[in-house]
Amino acid sequence: MGTICGHSIDEYIGMIRDFHGHLAPGLLIGGFMVDLATKNMPAGEFYDVLCETATCLPDAVQILTPCTYGNGWLKVVNVGRFAVAFFEKYTGAGVRVHLDAMKLDEYPEIRNWFLKLKTKQEQDKDRLIHEILTAESRILGMSPVQIVEELIGKIKGGKIFLCPGCGEAYPVKDGDRCLACQGTHLYR
Ligand code: ZN
Repeated sequence: MGTICGHSIDEYIGMIRDFHGHLAPGLLIGGFMVDLATKNMPAGEFYDVLCETATCLPDAVQILTPCTYGNGWLKVVNVGRFAVAFFEKYTGAGVRVHLDAMKLDEYPEIRNWFLKLKTKQEQDKDRLIHEILTAESRILGMSPVQIVEELIGKIKGGKIFLCPGCGEAYPVKDGDRCLACQGTHLYR
């Protein structure tokens, strides 16, 4: 059986349970995605990560690499695709790995899960996990990418003001009030 970023599969499953709470299929697939991407980055380069979904995949990156949401080396732009890109942090050159729906013919339970063709209750979880471990990286697609300028480097916050609405500190680039006071509802 293969390894994921130098960890045995059993080790990685333990890391998922510790970090994420339960063995989510997306995190298991995510491990193979992160493994494939890191193997295709030049050794010794500093890289950042862009995640195209907020579900599961960011946790695979946070478990297996030094890149976290909080330290800014992992960026999440939720366009809803199950894809992750690793890129050199100064030039933006890198590789993108996605779960390829065209490669799921031999893995019906992965397809059912990925395309939500079955409800969670109807899914055969053991078979799903077995298919993921059998498929490894064979269900993934990879291509070279160049990240857009805006996503390279630290996203700068700029000046801070105190909001006249709520009195809390906020980035002045958001306008004359904080986004919450401008109508982004978070609480009822
Ligand atoms: Zn405010």
